Order: sequence, then C-alpha cells, then structure tokens
Amino acid sequence: MPYAYDPQNIFAKILRGEIPNRTVMETDHTLAFDDIYPQAPVHVLVIPKGPYVCADHFALEASEAEIVDFWRTLGRICADKGLQPGEGGQGYRTISNAGEVAVQEVPHYHVHILSGRPLGRMLQ
Ligand code: C5P
Repeated sequence: MPYAYDPQNIFAKILRGEIPNRTVMETDHTLAFDDIYPQAPVHVLVIPKGPYVCADHFALEASEAEIVDFWRTLGRICADKGLQPGEGGQGYRTISNAGEVAVQEVPHYHVHILSGRPLGRMLQ
C-alpha cells in the first residue's frame, strides 16, 4: 500500500530542527530522543530520518542501510543504558503503534523503548 507521508507531522519538524528534542543518539539515518511525556523512567523514541509512516512502510521501502542503521541504533541505546536482560539490566519493552487501531499519534514511524519500572504483561 502506498502511504502518503505528512511532512508537517511533529517528528518531521523535529528532524528539520524546527522543534527541540532531547537527543539520545543520532546517526546518518536515525534519530533517538526522550519522549516528552515519559511513561516510564526510560522512554526513548527511535525514528528513521526518512519519510516512513509506520513499520511495514519502513520495512518494505527503506534501504537496507537505513534498516540496519535503525536497529543497530536501537541496540546501542539499550546497551548504553544497560537495559539488556541477563546482562545485569532489567530488560525493556519496544512498542510501535501503526494506524487508528493502535492509536498511532504521530504518523512518522517510531519505536518506543520503555524500561525502568515493572511493565506488566501486555499480550494475553
Ligand atoms: O506511538 P504514538 O504515535 O502514539 O506515540 C507518539 C509519542 O510521541 C508519544 O509517546 C508522545 O508523548 C511523543 N511525543 C514527543 N514529542 C512531541 C510529541 C509527541 O515525544 N513533540
């Protein structure tokens, strides 16, 4: 399905430097920053710099370089913050909402990293 990307969405404005952010990590293809309404002591959003709306859009249309860079960045953030389960960290949860059914608020693909408190079971 072709997606129409809205260049006025708030993450596009962050990427253009029109809105400030608390950057956690930045690479050629990826930006990660603290969520402004944190739901846990660690709440980082990882976004590609390219114009992708949601996970399937990114997975199908981004280049391999963008995809590798995105997930490596996510992994490095977890490692840097000591979140890896079994390595002395508490573990973490990643979430990516897509579309109305998941109440996606910002139509620019992003993965939430949550940690720092018990997160409970999500899937039952
Ligand atoms: O997955 P979803 O689209 O619902 O999440 C969007 C997230 O972006 C929210 O957690 C919200 O707090 C965050 N946000 C932000 N900075 C903004 C606008 C929204 O961190 N300026």
